[in-house]
Amino acid sequence: MTNAYKIIDHQYDVVVVGAGGAGLRATLGMCATGLKTACISKVFPTRSHTVAAQGGISAALGNLDEDNWRFHMYDTVKGADWLGDQDAIEYMCRHAIPAVLELEKFGVPFSRTEDGKIYQRQFGGHTKNYGKEMARRACAAADRTGHAILHTLYQQCLKHKAEFFVEYFALDLIFDENGKCCGVMTWNLEDGTIHRFQAHMVVLATGGHGRTFFSCTGAHTCTGDGNGMILRAGLPLQDMEFIQFHPTGIYGAGCLISEGARGEGGYLTNSKGERFMEKYAPNAKDLASRDVVSRAITIEVNEGRGVGEHKDHAWLHLEHLDPAVLQERLPGISETAKVFGGVDVTKEPIPVVPTVHYNMGGIPTNYHGEVICPTAENPDAVAPGLMSIGEAACVSVHGANRLGTNSLVDLVVFGRAAALRAKELIKPNTAHPKLKANAGEEALAKLDRIRHSKGTTPTSEVRLDMQKTMQKYCSVFRTQEILDKGCQEIDRVAKRFGDVRIADKSMIWNTDLMETLELENLLGQSVVTMHSAAKREESRGAHARDDFPDRDDKKWMKHTVSWMDSQNKVKLSYRPVHTHTLTDEVEYIKPQKRVY
Ligand SMILES: Cc1cc2nc3c(=O)[nH]c(=O)nc-3n(C[C@H](O)[C@H](O)[C@H](O)COP(=O)(O)OP(=O)(O)OC[C@H]3O[C@@H](n4cnc5c(N)ncnc54)[C@H](O)[C@@H]3O)c2cc1C
Repeated sequence: MTNAYKIIDHQYDVVVVGAGGAGLRATLGMCATGLKTACISKVFPTRSHTVAAQGGISAALGNLDEDNWRFHMYDTVKGADWLGDQDAIEYMCRHAIPAVLELEKFGVPFSRTEDGKIYQRQFGGHTKNYGKEMARRACAAADRTGHAILHTLYQQCLKHKAEFFVEYFALDLIFDENGKCCGVMTWNLEDGTIHRFQAHMVVLATGGHGRTFFSCTGAHTCTGDGNGMILRAGLPLQDMEFIQFHPTGIYGAGCLISEGARGEGGYLTNSKGERFMEKYAPNAKDLASRDVVSRAITIEVNEGRGVGEHKDHAWLHLEHLDPAVLQERLPGISETAKVFGGVDVTKEPIPVVPTVHYNMGGIPTNYHGEVICPTAENPDAVAPGLMSIGEAACVSVHGANRLGTNSLVDLVVFGRAAALRAKELIKPNTAHPKLKANAGEEALAKLDRIRHSKGTTPTSEVRLDMQKTMQKYCSVFRTQEILDKGCQEIDRVAKRFGDVRIADKSMIWNTDLMETLELENLLGQSVVTMHSAAKREESRGAHARDDFPDRDDKKWMKHTVSWMDSQNKVKLSYRPVHTHTLTDEVEYIKPQKRVY
């Protein structure tokens, strides 16, 4: 074992890595069932990206209009362009209702209707009666829904005496001789010590990896560290080519203007003043699914009808709405538009452009949150000792495209499910087997290598190279030629990591070192994303190919499974999409043409 580091050992029944909505809901559930649980987070829990979620959380409560979880399921399957697993989607849409009512009981300050019920607004792709009319399903706390939920969950965790390790950075997973995950190595950023956590179950709730791209709505912390750890452990990621571009990021700044803005009556126009969405989605118009609206804006720009000096974006209009409604329902985005776009939304439109927003792909799991490592015999084989939830995971409920407000509900439904499963698998305070003496050694050896690297390139330079490469070659529209070039380019960028230089060698609050570790995680994910995209010869959801414009269910209704060896070489395999439902209360929804 490397002697340079002071190692402090801990033992828990469960260790949750991540304190966003998913991590906190799981931690709370684990603690409530008596499991000794540690929650580790690189940022203070209430600073996790969940805090930025604006528009809402979906559940077919039917508070303002008729609704049914089966309609929610239909919309999710269709939104996912038939790449979602229907057993998991059924599970989520059914459990969304009690999950949101539970949040209300926990104390989430939802906006209210006149008669005191949870307020619900329209959102893209949310319909009733199987696509016939728009539904009102997005439960909202003004446009600060994530903020309200995250703070409430944190308070509940404190109530249940969860143990937090805040500003601890998880480095790598630890496995026993039989390949069972048995813990995680972490670095305490504050004092530079190394903490080795042993656990019967490790739950990765480390969030998305928006920062692989140059322009994204995600926080700087959205680097998908859990996914990086999975690849290094020789386990696979799934459906990484499916990256959601949100249609309305503020031009130039990337900050999100929630779909809730269009849900409240906002609409898009081009340089001719046309409401162009009427052309692309005659029924849902501005409230079509996100991939559809992002492509429409891109086509308008490509055909010369973009707005602004460079004719490269679109306008989002809210100025026709009653200022009182803006004040009550969209106060946060009014402020964001002012600060980051210099726009007074009561007077002028907001300049918007499609911006990377969500990762449908991630760590494959079943609907209990257990990580899947497919084998030739069993495509659904479980990797023991390991769970994943939230945006880090790919359950897969979002398939090829996520519907707005379906992430927040995914966090709480599967956070809860993971706790229920852990309760079945683990008896509180079960004795731990003896750890291998050198457990975690590899993680520290690697940390040492990076820290003392003799390279010459600053981390920020390689990161920018990666982000620009992803933005250029893996964007809204893709072709074989662009993706093949993208594979060469991203492989070239990944090699540059070997030459990274860290100026500061300290272990105490060394953000340079932390950003370099994050970069290593981002690079692995970028490489598998590009290679997965280059192989998928069809258009489905967020993966739009100019050269293969149609969905090809015969050949491609399957999940991409991507593995990476220590030389960054990618291996792809595929596993079937689940075409069964969980119960016979609902039937399998057969593939249809996806129009809005
Ligand atoms: C601007 C914005 C608005 C959105 N609005 C909505 C919305 O209205 N409705 C909706 O459904 N979805 C929305 N989304 C999507 C949704 O908010 C996210 O998908 C979701 O919050 C992710 O939650 P999470 O718990 O998986 O991860 P996060 O909230 O990102 O949390 C990740 C956690 O992991 C920890 N972590 C990561 N790496 C490490 C490491 N190496 N060591 C230790 N800890 C680590 C972090 O500290 C953090 O606590 C929005 C997203 C954005 C960016």
